[in-house]
Amino acid sequence: MIADIQLPASLKIGGGALSDLANILTTLGVKRPFLIADPIMKQLGTVARVTSLLRSEGIDAEAFCDVMPEPDDRSIAGAVAQVKANGADSIIALGGGSAIDSAKAIALLVSHGKSMRDYKVPYVVNQQSLPVIAVPTTAGTGSECTRVTVISDSESQEKMLCMGPGLMPKAAIIDYELTLTVPFRVAADTGIDALTHAIEAWVSTKANPFSDQQAIAAMRLIAPNLISACKVEGDKKAKESMMLGATLAGMAFSNASVALVHGMSRPLGVHFHVPHGMSNAMLLPAITKYSLPGAEQRYAECAKIMGLVSEDADNTQCHSALIVFLNKLNSELDVPSMSQFGIDRFKYDALIDLMADQALASGSPANNPRVPEKQEMVDLYRQLFS
Ligand code: NAD
Repeated sequence: MIADIQLPASLKIGGGALSDLANILTTLGVKRPFLIADPIMKQLGTVARVTSLLRSEGIDAEAFCDVMPEPDDRSIAGAVAQVKANGADSIIALGGGSAIDSAKAIALLVSHGKSMRDYKVPYVVNQQSLPVIAVPTTAGTGSECTRVTVISDSESQEKMLCMGPGLMPKAAIIDYELTLTVPFRVAADTGIDALTHAIEAWVSTKANPFSDQQAIAAMRLIAPNLISACKVEGDKKAKESMMLGATLAGMAFSNASVALVHGMSRPLGVHFHVPHGMSNAMLLPAITKYSLPGAEQRYAECAKIMGLVSEDADNTQCHSALIVFLNKLNSELDVPSMSQFGIDRFKYDALIDLMADQALASGSPANNPRVPEKQEMVDLYRQLFS
């Protein structure tokens, strides 16, 4: 098997790396960047910090700071028009996955027109667009090094997965200091998202020797640090490990794939507005348990890689330790059940059939080591509520 590996051309990794932004622009040969930022980055003064940093190097950058959390196609239309009018030659994305995904979609639409619907899977985005320099401020999605953007369709209520080498950022700055302001809930949800990426890349039917190495390193960084990074404000070491772990997990799944958890989680996000990482967390223990028979050895190794069992533990002990750990994470990190989150059971039941269709259409469940038929997925959605 030949693995098709895509990565950003340049990564700056470490506390304070943001100060290298102007150097990255010079290396890429761009002079007129446009900043796409999460509103919180404006409130925190980070947008002003970035624009003054650039100004000191003689670079002026306009900014769009109205990124929508879990963005839809309507939310980016205004920015597309602004970037075109500005004549920008590159885009800097500053924020969590929502800002980075918005920036990737904006770059694509500015460069090639049409609407996001035209680019959803199975379409493959091969064409190059305005270069994106991604600066993540959450330790979660790994979008800074994935060939993926997720944009909801405001008409059909579908979370559209768009994929292809043309969506890979040209450069990324992985500066954990930008995550120090992330509140507990967001740190927990984004951290579980990153762990889910690493586990799903590891057990994916598209796993390959390259993605395996990133997945292993990500699990080793994330598993022992996730709870402390969320709960202990001053634990910079844990936050730094989470930031690198999330980036490596992004590399792993972008070069393998995600699987059933992500496939079934996206419809929950779009229909019930559950934050992406939280909906993954709601599904992760039960879907992992369901999937165990499809990759017994890989799941057993997962428990060993994460340090949950000794090296001589057998598969049964490993599987049980893995499920216990995933449930413990959810309880330590206060992940609500679907009813605690406020999902209406009547509406949920009425949407199960559509959610199963949308999950299957995304293609992600087909990469799972155990692939459910539609009726089995309907049953899984039913069980998951309780
Ligand atoms: P997010 O970007 O929506 O941010 C969550 C919240 O945290 C927002 O309210 C934001 O304002 C706040 N926030 C961000 N950084 C902060 C900081 N430093 N300090 C304080 N608050 C901060 O959340 P996310 O989980 O990073 O991204 C979710 C989106 O990414 C979803 O749309 C999901 O589908 C997508 N996603 C994309 C990929 C990919 O490869 N492209 C992978 C996984 C998920």
